[in-house]
Formats: sequence, C-alpha cells, structure tokens
Amino acid sequence: MTINDVTLDDLPLRDDLRGEVPYGAPQLDVPVALNVNENPYPPSEAVVADMAAAVAAAARTLNRYPDRDALALRADLAAYLNGDGAEGLRVENVWAANGSNEVMQQLLLAFGGPGRTALSFAPTYSMYPEYARDTHTNWVAGRRADDFSIDLPAALDGIAEHQPTVVLLASPNNPTGTALPLADVEAILAAAPGVVVVDEAYAEFRRAGTPSALTLLPDHPRLVVTRTMSKAFALAGGRLGYLAASSAVVDAVRIVRLPYHLSAVSQAVARVALAHADELLAAVGELRAERDRTVDWLRENGFQAAASDANFVLFGVLPDRHAVWQGLLDRGVLIRETGPDGWLRVSIGTPEEMAAFRAALMEVRT
Ligand SMILES: *Cc1c(COP(=O)(O)O)cnc(C)c1O
Repeated sequence: MTINDVTLDDLPLRDDLRGEVPYGAPQLDVPVALNVNENPYPPSEAVVADMAAAVAAAARTLNRYPDRDALALRADLAAYLNGDGAEGLRVENVWAANGSNEVMQQLLLAFGGPGRTALSFAPTYSMYPEYARDTHTNWVAGRRADDFSIDLPAALDGIAEHQPTVVLLASPNNPTGTALPLADVEAILAAAPGVVVVDEAYAEFRRAGTPSALTLLPDHPRLVVTRTMSKAFALAGGRLGYLAASSAVVDAVRIVRLPYHLSAVSQAVARVALAHADELLAAVGELRAERDRTVDWLRENGFQAAASDANFVLFGVLPDRHAVWQGLLDRGVLIRETGPDGWLRVSIGTPEEMAAFRAALMEVRT
C-alpha cells in the first residue's frame, strides 16, 4: 500500500461532484498566450520595486495575522471606484478577496444555498455554474439573444418563474464582450426578488459611452458590482477582486468569509498597485484600440466578430473550431476554445502578438 493507491472512487466525494473535473484553461508554455484575458504588459521596474518594498515591510510582521477586514485596502478601493463612476462609496461599501472569483463564491455562500436559485444568461462566464454547484444552489441559465445581448422580456419571464435569490450578469460579458445597457440592469433589479450581481471584471476596457453599473448603486441596495485587479490592472498573479454594494451586502459576505482570507502580502501588493493606478492602467487605451482594430480586421477578412467592450474578441463562425484552435496552437498562438459552437475567443495582446495571431489565422483558416 502506498499513498497514491487510493483513487477518487474510493473516497466519499459528494455524489454531485463525481465525474467533475477542475476548471481551467490549459496553462501551456507558448510564445503567444492569448487565452485567459491577461494584460500583456507587466508592471514597470519602478512599480516592481515599490511592491518589493511593501512585501518586505509586510514580511516583518508575518508572525501576526493580517487585518481581517483589510480596512486600508478597502478604503483605497473605494477611492478608486469613486474616481470611476461611483459616488460616495466608503470603506463599508467595499469588500475584497482573493480574486473576484472568491468574492462571487462568497456571494453564493451568503445568498444562495439549498432550495435557492441563481440565474444567469448564457453564453456567459463558465465559472458561474461552478459556484452554484459548490454551494448547492440551483442553477438556471437563460439564453442570450443572437447578438449576445440580454433578451429582456425573456429575462424578466425567467425571473418571475424562478424567483432567483441571485442574478449574475457579466458586463462586459465573457466570452462575448457584450456590455449591458443600464436600463436592462434597472429592469432586472426591479423584477428580481434577491441580489443582482453585475460582474464588471472588464469594466475599464469599456468603449466611450458605455456606462458602469456603479452609477446605479446609490438607488439600488440589492445591487452588487464586482470588479477585479486581474485584467486592466495587470495583477492577475496578485489575486485581488472586490465588490461595491450596500454595507448590508458587505455584512452578509463577512459572515461566510474565512478568517484572515486575504494575506498581508496580497493586501500590501494591491495597495501599491492602486497607488500606481495611472501607470498600470496606462496600457488600457492601447489595448482598447488594438481590440477595435482586431474586430475590424476579423470582419474585413470574412469572420463574424462580436462587438466588444472588453480586452478580448469572440469570433466565428468556424465549421471546425477545434481544428482552427489546434492550428493556431501548432503555430505558437494559444487562444480559448469557449463560447457557442463555431466561435473562438482571442485575448488582446501586444501589437506583435496580435500580428502573430492574424498571420497564423490566415494560414489555418479553412
Ligand atoms: C477574469 C474574470 C473574472 C476575474 O477573476 P479573478 O478571480 O478576479 O481573477 C471575473 N469574472 C469574469 C467574467 C472574468 O472573465
């Protein structure tokens, strides 16, 4: 008998988890990685030096538990959001965790659960059904319209039928890039009996004129807006996500969070990133321009490309999308096989990376 003689079948795994596999895109070592919507620009040496100094300062106190409530970080996040469309957010209106994935899991722990329903509209972020599964929340996915917008009458019917305690709306949506009109969010808020979560992971990439749901917070105490530092802030490795909402929503997630969930190192690094927000977000304009060029190029070359307010583009329609995905990978370009059948998603990289993507796609197109 050795330690690995036991298989999953020998363990008392929950019945509803049997046959499930861990979520995640392949992490392959390729020259051009355009598959998980990362920001291609690493922090500058000046930011790296400030982060290193902050980590050193945190290290001197690592014998102690971190601030359980991350008050300094949450105050910085509130100030950042107040500069990006929010109004009057204070520390008690903001909550942070290890990525917005953890924030959303906490929301499902607090507001979902057995006998309750979470509702979203597919195609959308593939993690949502996993939060529901893991928290024993019933999962219902309505369909988006053909242009990937939300079919509002159908959405309102779904809310009336299922009475969800949580509605999850990604805007801009992943994998389609589609942003929601605020009027749709307001109509859903008026109809929904529970909390409405607008996942704004890509908000900083939205086009001019596309609003943020942050502006709705003052009038809607059951609205939750989630954000992340993983995408525009180029801090995917730092694992820092957050939400803005009424203080009552924050009180609810504080009940289910693990004690000291956010390490002193994570808090320190995120605060340095926020202090350098202007520099870290400087590439966002360039990425938005590159995204618009990518959409234009795809359309000019006979593909369909969904209008995008994010740092990625969903394109199709490919008779054999897996062959195209594999052909790109064979040429060193890794993109994401996700979304409706026949479509692929490409993240926006540097101009050089996008040139490599275009060249490879022209070779493999069938
Ligand atoms: C990338 C992404 C997130 C952010 O995840 P983190 O855990 O913050 O890295 C959240 N929602 C959507 C729709 C995403 O695509």
